[in-house]
Amino acid sequence: MKVLVPVKRVVDYNVKVRVKSDQTGVDIANVKMSMNPFDEIAVEEATRLKEKGAAAEVIAVSCGVAQAQETLRTAMAIGADRGILVQTDVELQPLAVAKLLKAVVDKEQPQLVILGKQAIDDDANQTGQMLAALLDWPQATFASKVELADGKVTVTREVDGGLETIALTLPAIVTTDLRLNEPRYVTLPNIMKAKKKPLDTVTAQDLGVDPAPRLKTLKVSEPPGRKAGIKVADVAALVDKLKNEAKVV
Ligand code: AMP
Repeated sequence: MKVLVPVKRVVDYNVKVRVKSDQTGVDIANVKMSMNPFDEIAVEEATRLKEKGAAAEVIAVSCGVAQAQETLRTAMAIGADRGILVQTDVELQPLAVAKLLKAVVDKEQPQLVILGKQAIDDDANQTGQMLAALLDWPQATFASKVELADGKVTVTREVDGGLETIALTLPAIVTTDLRLNEPRYVTLPNIMKAKKKPLDTVTAQDLGVDPAPRLKTLKVSEPPGRKAGIKVADVAALVDKLKNEAKVV
């Protein structure tokens, strides 16, 4: 059974991004880029399924600029067997990514696609859901546990009220939440091995998809700065302020 794992190259989570002076977006020139953290969790989960014998092959796929090859190499250092780069310089929005991924799914015929629940740059939380809709496959979003058996995937999901467990018939879409696993540390020997794994490059045109954006960003601005707090003399003063100023008690 093949597992497909879409991985996105995003600004590293440690970087504090700055809004460009013309407010058209954030400045990503000379900024450290990494694999989206939720996608690392997805690659780790797929790798564990392979190590358990539940999956035969793990394929990582990334849509974006040529440098996304580095993201695919990282996925292969964690454990993916091969990588596919859908190379395009066009700004990709979730619907375009979902269409590109659908074309890759049609070609590769995986039984399971594990995506991150959201990309930490656009915070869209849409691609997995859109891909499930385009493929007409069942979906389990925000997974904190994934088990494969008898042609079904059983997923425990993080929902507002606690945990929900659902069973889906394969083929299916799963998106990862933070608690699903802790991705392994990528070792140097595995980074070296990953360099020799196959990496194919295709274009959006090869896949017959028009990736042009459908939404236009009008303006990007910094959130308003937080006002400074004050120090109160004692608990009585605090209670007084909570009661009479903030009116929360
Ligand atoms: P989003 O809907 O943008 O928040 O992204 C959700 C998930 O979709 C990510 O965690 C990735 O697994 C996948 N994804 C989004 N964009 C891309 C991309 N350009 N290439 C590969 N996978 C992507």
